[in-house]
Amino acid sequence: MEYRHLGRSGLEVSVVGIGCNNFGRRCDLDATTAVVNASLDAGVNLFDTADVYGPAGLSEEYLGKALGSRRQDVVIATKFASPMGEGPMRRGGSRRYIIQACEDSLRRLGTDYIDLYQVHQPDGSTPIEETLRALDDLVRAGKVRYIGHSNFTGWMTSEAAWVAKTEHLTPFISAQNNYSLIDRSVEAELVPACNKHGVSILPYFPLASGFLTGKYRRGEPMPEGVRLAVWPAQMANRIMTDRNWDILEGLENFAQQRGHTVLDVAIGWLASLPHVGSVIAGATRPEQVVDNVKAGSWKLTAEELAEVDTIARR
Ligand code: NAP
Repeated sequence: MEYRHLGRSGLEVSVVGIGCNNFGRRCDLDATTAVVNASLDAGVNLFDTADVYGPAGLSEEYLGKALGSRRQDVVIATKFASPMGEGPMRRGGSRRYIIQACEDSLRRLGTDYIDLYQVHQPDGSTPIEETLRALDDLVRAGKVRYIGHSNFTGWMTSEAAWVAKTEHLTPFISAQNNYSLIDRSVEAELVPACNKHGVSILPYFPLASGFLTGKYRRGEPMPEGVRLAVWPAQMANRIMTDRNWDILEGLENFAQQRGHTVLDVAIGWLASLPHVGSVIAGATRPEQVVDNVKAGSWKLTAEELAEVDTIARR
């Protein structure tokens, strides 16, 4: 397993991490423990969860239980800001909310520090300085080690980096955004901003919810029990477009010619990009973790990256 520094920090994370949004939802505690054990066995050290995953809070709770005494060997990344209930007091990036949300996450995770605390989504009604100052206080109090953001745009990344620099506050070291071979929209603005400010990308939906694993076939019924069959139909409709089927089939050809699978390209391509810190694919079974870690070891050559560019820019 390769480990990479996150942003310009000293924190090293496995190039394949694990997304925990199945925990508490599609994975009960036993299934969560099996996925966590397989991840640790494979050298994964980054576990990405959020307060809202599960039914709210359950993913953090299961992750904490599954890790047990191995907590000190891993990087726990969690998030705040998405609504945890009705009304303005249970969401956002205000000082008042962040301090409470952090205490709640620490309790559910059964730990006394969070390695990477991420703003899940921008809060346009709270000044970024207030959010950064509250996070800086949590870092100084020893409750949080590093901070990151999610679903920020390029200008938000630059604004936050500038405020942190001029106000001498802890800077964001990671940006978590939707990024895969069927959605490369972050490359226009976010990636250049992150490169400029020393922020690593943590791609979410790297497998487009499983579409890029090859288990879905054009014109055929979906396999039983898979995510896109059990999640609301809008999700599948958004992903299963003619354009995306064309990309998938092009990538399958590309992979087969080189003795690989489309899953290998989906993860290996992201892992080959220097601006990516860790590919945090979700998993529901231990075998998926093993395959995903293996896929992350494929480093595409410059020629292969150029060919993938042609296929995936359709
Ligand atoms: P994803 O990684 O694109 O897809 C995960 C799904 O792909 C799994 O649930 C599993 O589907 C399938 N899968 C994974 N490995 C497989 C394999 N080797 N073979 C076959 N199928 C495989 O989507 P994601 O889990 O939603 O995203 C990754 C992580 O990003 C999340 O867990 C979460 O931590 C984070 N996230 C963040 C945000 C945000 O706003 N910041 C939004 C979404 C996600 P089945 O369920 O069908 O087995």
